Amino acid sequence: NKSQIGVIGLAVMGKNLALNMANHGYSVTVYNRSEDKTKQLLAEAAGRQLTGAYSLQELVASLERPRKILIMVKAGSPVDTTIEQLLPYLEQGDILIDGGNSFYQDTIRRHQQLAARGIHFIGTGVSGGEEGALKGPAIMPGGDRKAFALVQPIFEAIAAKVGEDACCTYIGSDGAGHFVKMVHNGIEYADMQLICEAYVLLRELLGLKPEEIKEIFAGWNQGELNSYLIEITADILGKTDPATGKPMVEVILDKAGQKGTGKWTSQVALDLGVPIPSITTAVFERYLSAMKDERVAAAKRLAGPEIQAVRKPAAFAEAIRRALYVSKIGAYAQGFSLMAGASRQYGWDLDLGSIAMIFRGGCIIRAQFLNKIKEAYDKNQDLPSLFLDEYFRTSIENYQQDWRDVVVAAIQAGIPVPAFTSSLSYFDSYRAAELPANLLQAQRDYFGAHTFERNDKEGTFHHNWEA
Ligand code: NDP
Repeated sequence: NKSQIGVIGLAVMGKNLALNMANHGYSVTVYNRSEDKTKQLLAEAAGRQLTGAYSLQELVASLERPRKILIMVKAGSPVDTTIEQLLPYLEQGDILIDGGNSFYQDTIRRHQQLAARGIHFIGTGVSGGEEGALKGPAIMPGGDRKAFALVQPIFEAIAAKVGEDACCTYIGSDGAGHFVKMVHNGIEYADMQLICEAYVLLRELLGLKPEEIKEIFAGWNQGELNSYLIEITADILGKTDPATGKPMVEVILDKAGQKGTGKWTSQVALDLGVPIPSITTAVFERYLSAMKDERVAAAKRLAGPEIQAVRKPAAFAEAIRRALYVSKIGAYAQGFSLMAGASRQYGWDLDLGSIAMIFRGGCIIRAQFLNKIKEAYDKNQDLPSLFLDEYFRTSIENYQQDWRDVVVAAIQAGIPVPAFTSSLSYFDSYRAAELPANLLQAQRDYFGAHTFERNDKEGTFHHNWEA
């Protein structure tokens, strides 16, 4: 009896996806470079339709035709190595699926290389971490649409569900799925940074303890901010360190790590010429956080203002909630504009409404709010910015005074809130009919004869600035 699908790479993600498939009744052959992980998984999964393979040849031989193989190895060269090693055993029409966090341009390259040999390639984003992989991730497949149709039932079975809908939709050709997953992670960086800024404002301006901030976040999670990230933040703030009895957050060193998907999102935005300042700021803040020793030394030398206690704490906490909500709208507006820009550049024809739908379940950024994004794109597929959708426009109209008040209070107190601030500046720049780029063009023309356009007649001009 042949298996319906193979999984290569049995670290947390591959292992849990294989179990998820087996739990949904699919027969799976599993393989890992080092045998111990294969044996361990088979021991854990006794009684389920999992078969172990101890060579790639054995794996391929165990599968139904056309073969469907999900690769879940470390992103980067291990994916190429695995594909190279598999190729001698594959036949035309077989389907390779890369479910890791591969860079989308690598996916485009692999897609072309494999197409030339008659092998279908599906680069798919998988979101939701370890638990999502087991219980239902969001799945963002890109590549050959016809080949996707052959794996679609398996993907839909294992994906997260929101009501009846599986959080899995074909995204677009070649690298589209991995691109969308990358932007998901970029948005996640901004969303997390914004929540951290709300936390620091509650802590520093209102002088609240983690236990009190927990209650505030738990309350926020009941309303329009309802989301996985707000929910886990409330949970985190309630946890105590068993060793010291202190709140867990207060014993964790303030040095952030990263695996690079936020950096990629920022680099790609620079290449595509799409502004995503809140996402990029979130990446930079992780870098700044990592400079712990330098910050500690600087703190001794560089004084800021005294922090004044806020007069109406409850009202101010509500203002922070509102500022967080509209800052978040700004960050998502940027992420969705980046996807729209890439869609034009690569001819992917991305359906941004469906993408918002998939993000609603399984993903780290899953949130109520994504329904509103879906509705916005349902009303107008070519919406230039989420800011222009009626719902979001009204939210900002109602909350923007609080947004400004919170940012001003933070700046006056010397508390860094770069993501709140960059979302607000992005909003103000976006809605500005005039920016000071007139002067900028004059400067460029002055020192480099770069020329400029005029606002009163057509054409390209150069001024003799020395005259
Ligand atoms: P890792 O990224 O830690 O990768 C470990 C796996 O890759 C092991 O199976 C390892 O085999 C294999 N591997 C590494 N190098 C090679 C190589 N040169 N040749 C063959 N196999 C190799 O595993 P994760 O499960 O965390 O992630 C898998 C993919 O999914 C990654 O792309 C990751 O970015 C992505 N992802 C991870 C998420 C998470 O929450 N962890 C969430 C979403 C996506 P061996 O055991 O022999 O070392």
